[in-house]
Amino acid sequence: MAYGRVALVGAGPGHPGLLTERARALVEQADVVVFDRLVSPRLLMHAKPDAALLYAGKAPGCHALAQREIEAMLVDLARHHGLVVRLKGGDPLVFGRGAEEAAALREAGVPFELVPGVTSAVAVPAFAGIPVTLRGVSRSFAVATGHAGDGLRAHLDALAGAETLVLLMGVAELPRIAEELRARGVSPDTPAAIVAWGSRAKQRSLRATLATLAAEAERRGIGSPAVIVIGDVAADASLGSWFEAMPRFGERHLLFASSMREALAHAAKLEAEGAEVLAHTWDRAQSVRLAELEAAVSMSAQGKPVGFAFRTALGVEMWFCAVQRAGLDLRRLSSLKLAAVDGYVTQVLRDGGLAPDARSLGEMARMPVEVWFAEVPGSGRDADVEAACRASGAEVRPLHLLGPRLAPAVPPRWQPFVRAWRDIVAEWLAEGPADLWALGDPALLRPLADDVGMGGEPLRRADAFGLAAAEAVCGA
Ligand code: SAH
Repeated sequence: MAYGRVALVGAGPGHPGLLTERARALVEQADVVVFDRLVSPRLLMHAKPDAALLYAGKAPGCHALAQREIEAMLVDLARHHGLVVRLKGGDPLVFGRGAEEAAALREAGVPFELVPGVTSAVAVPAFAGIPVTLRGVSRSFAVATGHAGDGLRAHLDALAGAETLVLLMGVAELPRIAEELRARGVSPDTPAAIVAWGSRAKQRSLRATLATLAAEAERRGIGSPAVIVIGDVAADASLGSWFEAMPRFGERHLLFASSMREALAHAAKLEAEGAEVLAHTWDRAQSVRLAELEAAVSMSAQGKPVGFAFRTALGVEMWFCAVQRAGLDLRRLSSLKLAAVDGYVTQVLRDGGLAPDARSLGEMARMPVEVWFAEVPGSGRDADVEAACRASGAEVRPLHLLGPRLAPAVPPRWQPFVRAWRDIVAEWLAEGPADLWALGDPALLRPLADDVGMGGEPLRRADAFGLAAAEAVCGA
C-alpha cells in the first residue's frame, strides 16, 4: 500500500515566534496534524482550514493514548493522507519520545522527516530571564527528567556536579530532589527557580533557593508544566523580566475574522507587544468555495460592466485568488465596479491596490453595472446589500463563498481524537478571560462568537483599537 509521509516536528514551548520556519511550512501543508497537550493552539492557526486536527492526549471520555497507540495512529494516518504532521512540545527528541515514533515509522516503511524544535529546557528559563550558561558563573548545564519513574536518583550523583541543573517534569518530585541534592553536598542556599507555562500568557516564574523553592512554588500555585533551574544562574539579573515586562504580557485576545490570513497578520502586531492571540474565522468554521467567484471573475474579464460587492476580507482575498487563477491582469478589468460595504473591507481592497467605487449602500445604488455579484456571508444583513444592488438596475447574483464544513476523512478508529477548531478555541477561552475583537463588521462576525460560546459577549471593532486591515496578499 502506498504511504504518505510523516513529519515529527518540534513546536517549541508555545510562543508562535519560536516555531521554526520548517515547522511552520509543514503545519501549513499538513493534511493531518496530531498534537500534544503542551502544543499551544495558536500554532494550529497555521494549518490549512480543512486539515484534520487530532489530539493525542486525552479524548473526551477516553483515556490518554498509550505510546504504542500513537505510533499505530501515525502509521495508519500516513496510509490515508499525504502529509501527517506530528507536532510535539519543545524538541521531539528531548523527553519527547520522538525516537520511538521514528523507529515505529521506519519499521512500517513510512517515510518521515524530523524537525528539531526549540526546547523548553533552554527557552523557558530564557523567557524568565535566566541564562543556562553564564561567563564566570556556569560553564555547563545538565538537563534531566525529574519524573520519579525515570531513575533520577541513580543519576543524581553526576547531576549534582553540573553548574546548572535544568529539570523537566520535576514539579511533583521537587521536594525529594532538593533533599537528595542537599544530601550530596549542594548548599541549600543555591539559587533555584521555577518557570511554569514559559513563553505563554500564563507564564509564572519564581526565584528562590534550593531550600525554599518547593514550598514557595506550592504556596504561589506555580505548578506543572514547569522548568526548574538549580544553580547560580537562577539568581542572575542580567536579563531582568524582559518577557513578563512587555506591555501586553499576560493579555489574551481572541480575534473573530473572516479569514485566518487576516487574523494572523493582526495577531503578529499584538504578539510583538507580548500578548497571546487566538482566532476564530469563517474559513475555519465553514469550507471555502472558489467556483462561483471564478465564474464571476471570468465574466467580468469579458468587458461587461460588472460589479462586486464585498462584505468581508475573505471575499476580497478570494477574489484576488480567482483573478490570479484565471491568469488575468487587473488592467483588463476596467469596466469593473467594486463596492466595500464596511470600512474594514475598504482598507483590505486598498491594501490590494484597488480603490472601491462605492463605500455605502447609497453609492452602490448609483453604480451603472449590468450584474452585481454580492458576497453572501450568511448573516441577516444580506438583504440590504441585495436591495442596494438591485436599485442600481442591475441583476443581482449572490456569491456563496462558504459552505458547510465537512468532517475530515480520518479512519473511524481515530475519529474520537479529531478536534473541531471551535472546541479548541472554546477550551482556550475556558482557561481565562480574553478580549474579543471583530476584524470587520461585528454583526457579520457574530455567528463566530456564538460558535465558541461567546454569543452574549460584546465584540469590539478592531479598527477602534488602531488595527487596520492586513495586507490582502494572495497565495497560490
Ligand atoms: N520535548 C519537550 C519536553 C517534553 S517533557 C521539550 O523539548 O521542551 C514535558 C516537560 O517539558 C514539562 O513537564 C515541562 O517540564 C517542560 N515544558 C514544556 N513546555 C513548557 C513550557 N511552555 N513551560 C514550562 N515547561 C515546559
